This record gives sequence, C-alpha cells and structure tokens, in this order.
Amino acid sequence: MLEDKDRIFTNVYGFQDWGVEGAIQRGDWDDTKALLDLGPAAIIQTIKDSGLRGRGGAGFPTGMKWSFMPQEPKPGRPNFLVINADESEPGSCKDREILRHDPHKLIEGALVAGFAMRARAAYIYIRGEFIAEAKNLMAAVQQAYDKGFIGKNACKSGYDFDVFVHRGAGAYICGEETAMLESLEGKKGQPRLKPPFPAGAGLYGCPTTVNNVESIAVAPTILRRGAAWFTQFGRDNNKGTKLFQISGHVNTPCVVEEAMSIPFRELIERHAGGIRGGWDNLLAVIPGGSSVPLVPAAQIMDAPMDFDGLKDLKSGLGTAAVIVMDKSTDIVRAISRISYFYKHESCGQCTPCREGCGWMWRMMERLREGNAAVGEIDLLEEVTRQVEGHTICALGDAAAWPIQGLIRHFRPELERRIADKQGGADYAVAAE
Ligand code: SF4
Repeated sequence: MLEDKDRIFTNVYGFQDWGVEGAIQRGDWDDTKALLDLGPAAIIQTIKDSGLRGRGGAGFPTGMKWSFMPQEPKPGRPNFLVINADESEPGSCKDREILRHDPHKLIEGALVAGFAMRARAAYIYIRGEFIAEAKNLMAAVQQAYDKGFIGKNACKSGYDFDVFVHRGAGAYICGEETAMLESLEGKKGQPRLKPPFPAGAGLYGCPTTVNNVESIAVAPTILRRGAAWFTQFGRDNNKGTKLFQISGHVNTPCVVEEAMSIPFRELIERHAGGIRGGWDNLLAVIPGGSSVPLVPAAQIMDAPMDFDGLKDLKSGLGTAAVIVMDKSTDIVRAISRISYFYKHESCGQCTPCREGCGWMWRMMERLREGNAAVGEIDLLEEVTRQVEGHTICALGDAAAWPIQGLIRHFRPELERRIADKQGGADYAVAAE
C-alpha cells in the first residue's frame, strides 16, 4: 500500500488551502529554479527514466513525447504546451480534484515541462462545466504571476513563460488532442487528420505537445525526488503512482492515489470499503472509463491495475476510472447507455463513426429489450469491427469497444433476453 509520505497529491480531498501559501507549505514552488537549472535535456531524461506514461488514457511515454519537440524553435514559430483539462470521460474525475484542490502542482508542472520543451507558453484547456475548478485555477495562475513564479523571468530563471486558461464549451470530443487545438484556435472542435502530428504542426501551426493534467502535475515531484523513487512503485513498464477513481457499487466511492499495479481486490478493499453486498455480488468492472471494455468479476478480482495487466484482459487502464457494477446492474442497459453517449458526442466528420454510432446504439436498444434475432448479435459485432480503426480519431474505437466487451463476456445474457422475448416475457419491464 502506498504510504502517505510517497503521495504526490497531498491535498486531493481539499482539506488544506488550495492557494499559493498552502501549496508552498506542501512543498510546491520549492526552489523551482534549481529544477530549471538542470536544463531541458536532463529534465526530459529524468522523466524518461521515471517510466512515466501519459495519464490521460493512451499511456504513451511522457518523456519520449517531450523529446519530439524541436530543440531550437524557429523565430516566429514558438513551441507550445497544451494541457488537457477537458476531463469528460464518463467515470473519470481525477483531474478536477487537482484543478480545484491542488492547482499549483499543475502550474509548476506546466513551467517545468514547458521549459523542458522550450515552450513559450502553456494553454490549459479546461472543461466548460468545471466552474469552481476554473475559478480556482485562474486564481492560482494569477497568484503564480504575482509571486513571479511564471511570467517574465519565471522563478528568476531568466526564462519567460506564460500560462493561459481556456474554458471549453461542453463537447466531449474536444478532449481529443487535435480537436482541442482546433477549439483553442476558435474553430469547431473537430479532430484533425494525422499526420502532421502536433509536435510538427500543432496550435496555430506551431510545434505543440498536448499532455494530461495528471501527467504534468506529477513532473516537479519526480524531478525533486528522482526517477528511482518513482520507479519503485508498479511493475516494469507500469511505473509510478496513479490517481484511481472508484465509482459505482462500492461502499465508499472515492478518488485515491495508489501505487500502479495494485491488485483490484486490494484497491477496492483498502479504499472503497469493498463491494456493495460482498464480493460474491460483483458482476463486472469497467476499469478505465466508459470507453474501455468491461471485465467480468472472475477475471478482474486479482488483476494488477496497470496498463499491461488490463490489456492482457482485453481491456485497458484508460484514465483509471474504475466503474464497479454489482449484480443488480442491467448490464445490457448500462452498455447501451454508453453507446448513446458516444452517438451523441460523435463530431460527425467520418461516416463510420457518424452512422455507425447511431447504428450500434439502436441495435443495443433492441438487444436490451430482446427485440432482435440471435444472428443480430454477430451483425452488431461486425459493425463494431467496421467502425473500429476506420475513423479519424479514437472516438469510433471508444464506441465500439464497450459493445465488443459485452458480447465477449455476456453473450448468453443477450441470447436469454431474445429467448425470453420470443417466449413472451417482457424483459424491458422486468429490468426497470
Ligand atoms: Fe469525429 Fe467520430 Fe470521426 Fe472522431 S471518429 S473525427 S468523433 S466522426
């Protein structure tokens, strides 16, 4: 179990002052100049050595991503850092805790990461619905300016660095990095075709790196405590600590920082008070936010909660938004509701996603009622395969995967509903 002394986010529950004085007491902004004095190359190397993988879902090595940025920005073509605070994945609720309770961790991280990438400025794109979070974040940015931590000669390092906060307008797709750049530029938030990748041509056509809030916020602590400290947690290739967000049918839902690779059962027992009604009552878990396939109870119980452990179960760690479902859950209805979400959030640019998401949702609704033929389960699976991997961005995959997981693990339940319907039972009413 992760000890308190090894926690990075020591104010995740907001018991202490979120402002600059509280942050300084917690150790933030402690001789940040010394971190910058390490130089960009050493900072990037330390992040690489720490094994930090992006905390926004994809799990790409953070240090490597930083190293893709041009080392000598051309005049008139500055590098930019964009921080993705558009946390909109159903089940995910960790970045908001950082934004409202520990915003200086993020701002200091922005300075350090921005410096390492020779960025002129950081843009923090915050989800529009996060009203209180944006308020705290904007106030914290102003405090950092007032203290001389950012702005001209940031932390007396001789380096100029600005931080801008930009509020989104409520579209899930703006969490996709290139849609976010479009939105920042004042355009409709629709993903761009890649290549070019943002490191080549990103915000305003300039080299840009887009990172998740948690990935940036942990950087100063890793630099202060060293890569070796960070790598003592988690298995190989899955290092560090992580904010887990446990929701659903547990006794005490919570956001908690734990060591990567902690077994699922231990995570739930220690922090979430166990499964509602006991472990025999567990049905399935969506371990990484709504876009990853569910994992049935028997398979997840002792699984390590990390990128590779959940990939082995044909699911994913995603944002570590752990949605627990007990046996009272109408699992088909739950997945159908997720399908509706993706149908609603499709930006409509590509045909497989625009048409396929609606198709999949409508078929899911019929399967929910059992109002289908058994062969349509295979047809639905086939449709998910035609959407997956055939779209501009990953929203198509995100819509397809939950359904694939349902069919993989709960096909008998789908068939039972069809048989019940044909036998005259009205399942839709029974499930209400
Ligand atoms: Fe838009 Fe969907 Fe295509 Fe992504 S996959 S670009 S959300 S239509």
